[in-house]
Amino acid sequence: MPTLQDPLMIVTDLDGSLLDHHTYSWEPAQPWLERLNEEGIPVVICSSKTAAEILPLQRLLGIISSPYIAENGAVVHWEEFNGSVDRAANKGYTEICQTLQKLRDRLGFKFIGFADVTEKEVAEWTGLTPHNAALAKMREGSESLIWRDSAARFDDFSEALAAEELTLVQGGRFWSVMNRGAGKGAALDLLLRHYTHPVGHKWLTIGLGDGPNDGPMLDKVDYAVIIKGYSKTPVTLQREGRDVEERVFHSTHFGPEGWSEGLSHFITQG
Ligand SMILES: [Mg+2]
Repeated sequence: MPTLQDPLMIVTDLDGSLLDHHTYSWEPAQPWLERLNEEGIPVVICSSKTAAEILPLQRLLGIISSPYIAENGAVVHWEEFNGSVDRAANKGYTEICQTLQKLRDRLGFKFIGFADVTEKEVAEWTGLTPHNAALAKMREGSESLIWRDSAARFDDFSEALAAEELTLVQGGRFWSVMNRGAGKGAALDLLLRHYTHPVGHKWLTIGLGDGPNDGPMLDKVDYAVIIKGYSKTPVTLQREGRDVEERVFHSTHFGPEGWSEGLSHFITQG
């Protein structure tokens, strides 16, 4: 089991994981956050939230200099880098919205995206304050949407997006449309390839998440915490091997309580 002296990196989802699903509080995780901060261990937020939402949260959480992954993996940021998984081939936010509009005009799909509504409506959907809803609308690499058509039409939509080199990722509350190949797992891959440990050690990663969109990220980390959540779709991991049972932990508590429970399970404190 890892100790605080190991070259640890914590990679965490926000909603329903580090933040309470209903109140957005992280109080039960505060002692662990302080401990990690004291030890200089990066806490990488890996969330469906935008960079504009993550930055003030990082300050509140006291994890300012850590990298982050925003918009379900469509955006990756660390000190020397800000961008997406394969920038050259990628559509930016404006282009993604234009493609969505084109598909809607041509094929008549019924959905409603953040670009289609005001911050007031986003606030009503999410329970965010109007200010925070405005931050949620400041998107760079993915569009969030609510599907308002049949399941059969959803399959057609998914195919039409694939033909445009786009893909759908299911988040906690919304679907995200982003470039094909993007996602939390691909974003973490990129980060681990380029963001080096201060003295060159190989990062020992612990990932924490509660939703199906966290699966690809939890498959990439050395130790995975699946936090008890409210999602109807369970988190399924692809990882295999003899040590899966030792390296995957299911919390008994929800949200930040489960988050702390997971870290206490894996990290031996000396
Ligand atoms: Mg979540």
